[in-house]
Formats: sequence, C-alpha cells, structure tokens
Amino acid sequence: KLSLRSVHKSFGGNHVLRGIDMDVATGEMICLIGASGSGKSTLLRCINQLEPIDDGSVWLDGQDISEPGLDLGPVRRRIGIVFQSYNLFPHMSALENVVLAPRRVLQEDGDALNARAEALFDRFGLAQHMRKYPDQLSGGQQQRVAVIRALAMRPEIMLFDEITAALDPELVGEVLNVLRQLRAEGMTMLLATHEMGFARELADRVCFMDGGVIVEEGPPGQIFSDPKVARTQAFLRTVL
Ligand code: ATP
Ligand code: MG
Repeated sequence: KLSLRSVHKSFGGNHVLRGIDMDVATGEMICLIGASGSGKSTLLRCINQLEPIDDGSVWLDGQDISEPGLDLGPVRRRIGIVFQSYNLFPHMSALENVVLAPRRVLQEDGDALNARAEALFDRFGLAQHMRKYPDQLSGGQQQRVAVIRALAMRPEIMLFDEITAALDPELVGEVLNVLRQLRAEGMTMLLATHEMGFARELADRVCFMDGGVIVEEGPPGQIFSDPKVARTQAFLRTVL
C-alpha cells in the first residue's frame, strides 16, 4: 500500500505540490488528470523519489520512503516508472535493453533472466521483435519495450507519465492495450494521462489535479458525468 501525506514540492519559488494526500490500495488503478502544469508529473516523480519532497511523507507498506538519507535503490525497484520518451539504448536490442538493469541489480542468473525477459515479450505480443534494435521498431513497439523493461524489475507499483503522448494516434491503442492487460493482471498503477476515454474506461479512481492539489477524486463514472467542483467542471468542459 502506498500513502502520501501532505506532500509539498517547490522548484525555486514555484510551489508545485501544495499538500497532496493519497492512498493507493494494492491492485488499484488511479488516473491523474488535470491541465498542463498542474503537477501530475511532479507528483509521480515525488512518489518514487526521483525528486526529493520538501514536506510531508510518502509511505510504502508502512515504511517512510521519503526519509532523507534512505537508500533509494530498493524504492526504485519496487516502484517502476515509464515516461513519454522511452529512451531505449539505441545500440542494444530490445531484449538487451530489458535485461540490462535486472542483470546489474537483481543478480539473477543469465539464462533464467533471459527466459523471464522472453516470457515478458511473449506476454505483451512482442516476441517476434525482441532481437530488433530500437530504430527497427515503431514508436508504439518501443514504448511497449520500455514498459517491459520496467516490469522486468518486478515492481509492485507502476507509474506511467503520459506514455502515449508522443505517439502517432494509430499507435496509441497498442500501448493502451498493455495497460489494460496489466490492470487485468492486478498491477497497482498510477497513470498521468490526457486520454480521458482511457481514464473513464479503466481507472478505479480518477484524481483531478489543479494548482498542485487534488481538487476532486472519485470513480470515473462520477468524475466524468457528475463532477461536484466548479474547477473540475470547467476543466472537463475544455477536454471532453
Ligand atoms: P503536463 O500535463 O504538461 O505534463 P504536469 O501536470 O505534468 O503538466 P508538471 O510537469 O508536474 O505538470 O509541472 C508542474 C510545474 O512544475 C510547472 O510549473 C513546471 O514548470 C514545474 N517543474 C516541473 N519540473 C521542474 C523542474 N525539474 N525544475 C523546475 N520546475 C519544474
Ligand atoms: Mg506531465
């Protein structure tokens, strides 16, 4: 279980997160929506401690993972993140990209790791592409490899930051299918997205962020059909 308590984050004088409280249950899928600049990416980065927070705390199964000085290696293994830019290493095959971090960090036997990685490619319909290099793959395939790379670390929680935003429209669906599959398998996920249709279809809970706070949250049926707060209503009018 992941819990955020009164999390604050500033960049210089820009107070970006202004007291975020959130509880994410195991197996839950949460979509973060909100205008550009509302703090969605910053929130995700503060959860897996890519950014240190200024105040408040982030808890993972009863441990304060925002405590200064904590070894962040285990935290980053337990909470995977995938970004809009997939950043695969161009001089390595898809498979080599995927086994790189687990080989270094998990100290798994090479054959066992390869077999596990190949099973991941298979599970997400990419088995025939795993020996290819990134420039031989479409954007959608590269992004799916990036998801597989994160999953290869056996994370308990996955964070996704606008992972379809850079893709041509016809490639968005294949990446969303991966998320559908992960949700069906019970992965705990937080997803910052501008894909309202997807949030509506798959989120257990939608959190609308504005000005660095969660203004309103609830099941997608309620948030999209019957938002209670004027700022949520105004935002949804601009995007739906
Ligand atoms: P978008 O929908 O465009 O992705 P967002 O909701 O993800 O927006 P953030 O990227 O979290 O918004 O940005 C929130 C604010 O924090 C913005 O004002 C941004 O300029 C600022 N910010 C984010 N990261 C940094 C950083 N590393 N250094 C300085 N300012 C930052
Ligand atoms: Mg963002």
